[in-house]
Amino acid sequence: IIDINHLKKSYGENEVLKDIDFYVNKGEVVSIIGSSGSGKSTLLRCINLLERPNGGEIIYRGENVLNSRQDINKYRTHLGMVFQNFNLFNTLNVLENCTVGQIKVLKKGKEEAKEIALHNLKIVGMEKYINARPEQLSGGQKQRVAIARALSMEPDVLLFDEPTSALDPETIGEVLKVMKELAKTGITMILVTHEMEFARDVSDRVIFMDNGVIREEGTPEQIFNNPKEERTKEFLKRFL
Ligand code: ATP
Ligand code: MG
Repeated sequence: IIDINHLKKSYGENEVLKDIDFYVNKGEVVSIIGSSGSGKSTLLRCINLLERPNGGEIIYRGENVLNSRQDINKYRTHLGMVFQNFNLFNTLNVLENCTVGQIKVLKKGKEEAKEIALHNLKIVGMEKYINARPEQLSGGQKQRVAIARALSMEPDVLLFDEPTSALDPETIGEVLKVMKELAKTGITMILVTHEMEFARDVSDRVIFMDNGVIREEGTPEQIFNNPKEERTKEFLKRFL
């Protein structure tokens, strides 16, 4: 569904992504793991064009979206993003957070947007909080709303960047549970996570990033039980 070739990204002299080849198939759950600074967030941000890559191509529906003729905003509506820090609209209530994008970007009618939002808020177990403001919610609840908001845009691919790393330990589980349910529904997911148990549990494929390259990739079984690369072994040791 997305096919990335020779992707490069630098910040000044700092080459953060070095010739990355990456793909995700429809319905696949791909986890990206790796040390801090290895380029995981930058890769996600390049995939949804929050950052402009310096080179390479991103093929989506048969077209290179980095080609200047492509409508980047249109492409981005097909990708849902869930951030570490929720990025909810604090002036809007829970329901409005889930309808505003549908109305403004997808040009949906209010009633239809509301129906879709309520459906997704039910999926994440937040339908009782539709009138609450983000500030009244716990971190786990906020993140569940952020997931419902992303789902409400009916994306082709959902991207998660460490969705639980800003949460209190007590609320991590509720968010992982929602994500696990989603993974089972056949939605395409790319997630950056430090939750190794979770990655092993839900992923079809795991990618280990190291210093701006994909050092190793394989099934969770291959990566976690039988890593080939020294760097992968070293990294995983820290989680034993
Ligand atoms: P973490 O696990 O800590 O989130 P990461 O794997 O997501 O790490 P990135 O955030 O992608 O790593 O950062 C990779 C490198 O790119 C780091 O050296 C970082 O300093 C640099 N970097 C990231 N964003 C920027 C930016 N906007 N400007 C300059 N340098 C940046
Ligand atoms: Mg990161």
